Amino acid sequence: MSTAGQVIRCKAAVAWEAGKPLSIETIEVAPPQKHEVRIKILFTALCHTDIYYWECKGYTPLFPRILGHEASGIVESVGEGVTDLQPGDHVLPIFTGECKECKHCLSEESNNMCDLLRINCDRGVMLADGKTRFSINGQPIYHFVGTSTFSQYTVVHVGQVAKINPNAPLDKVCPISCGICTGFGATVNVAKPKKGQTVAIFGLGAVGLAAAEGARVCGASRIIAVDLNPKRFEEAKKFGITEFVNPNDYNKPVQEVIVEMTGGGVDRSVECTGSVQAMISAFECVHDGWGVCVLVGVPKIDDAFKTHPMNLLSERTLKGAFYGNYKPRTDIPLVVDKYLNKELGLDMDKFITHSVPFAEINQAFDLMLKGIGLRCMIHLDA
Ligand code: NAD
Ligand code: ZN
Repeated sequence: MSTAGQVIRCKAAVAWEAGKPLSIETIEVAPPQKHEVRIKILFTALCHTDIYYWECKGYTPLFPRILGHEASGIVESVGEGVTDLQPGDHVLPIFTGECKECKHCLSEESNNMCDLLRINCDRGVMLADGKTRFSINGQPIYHFVGTSTFSQYTVVHVGQVAKINPNAPLDKVCPISCGICTGFGATVNVAKPKKGQTVAIFGLGAVGLAAAEGARVCGASRIIAVDLNPKRFEEAKKFGITEFVNPNDYNKPVQEVIVEMTGGGVDRSVECTGSVQAMISAFECVHDGWGVCVLVGVPKIDDAFKTHPMNLLSERTLKGAFYGNYKPRTDIPLVVDKYLNKELGLDMDKFITHSVPFAEINQAFDLMLKGIGLRCMIHLDA
């Protein structure tokens, strides 16, 4: 029986307060409105950005809220004006959108800074009417980055939905919707190491290891990984990394260590930590004359990046990459196709180190807070 046009009652993991375990509740999900899509989420994983907005240190609190943005699912119904999606389509919701009409979406030089649907972590409502589609006994529950995937059903703007090949296994491609594209794209689309070049990767979570995979696929000769957590090094050995550096093992800045190890600096570096200190080190460890550093991590609200301007004058390049420089609706279906055709060079199983049924979603938070494993796949139907 079709549920289109009706309110759906389902389970969601609701964050009632900053830093408190999520609680599984029965919620009501309203039908999608104009330019919206209601999606049955089958798999979701936790990315560090969810943790920032759950802990809410320094960010404006917005609770109760349904977090979650790395996910995969199937379209249940579509709202008015949605022509390119229909019930049954396999999709990845994306935390940042592509309206295909604004100055950014039409620009050849901009990839994913859409004026209408660019990520907005502070907005907890839908654009169409400024209201939420989630409620518990009439009390509204706020959305998160337009995706809110810690719910069996969610409502997303059509511009934040990538329609993918129905043959793609939805559990395996789930991390493509955030962590994989963010890291892999930062290397292959932005840092662009040439074959034989040296690359430093700062931060060995899923984003950093996806960036390391990008370096391996590009043919880097040395991939030097930097992390403060030695537990990460064991996991990272499966990812083609050639050397590990823990800044805590040295009594000088890690950029000096890397400059010495490489006779002048690495050719490329990609920062995936969110620590401003690591961002500065990542920039200062690239070779003068040609080195390129790409920042990916999300900094704290009052962080400031400080380096001597001479470091730039001596022909180093500092860049930032958002969502791996991919266009969400246009590029992501192609990335999934490449993964299926084994052209991406990525083994998704290496990233999915844990899995839990929906009721145990808080375990995924514990694992990430302890720095154990990479992605924990949460099964919403289990
Ligand atoms: P994660 O917590 O799994 O991994 C981060 C790693 O960085 C950890 O292993 C940690 O030990 C390490 N680290 C922290 N401070 C460090 C330092 N000073 N030096 C060296 N290593 C350090 O997180 P993740 O899910 O892989 O995400 C990584 C970052 O990417 C986060 O900041 C996240 O918010 C950000 N992110 C950015 C985008 C984007 O589009 N730019 C998208 C998704 C995630
Ligand atoms: Zn746009």
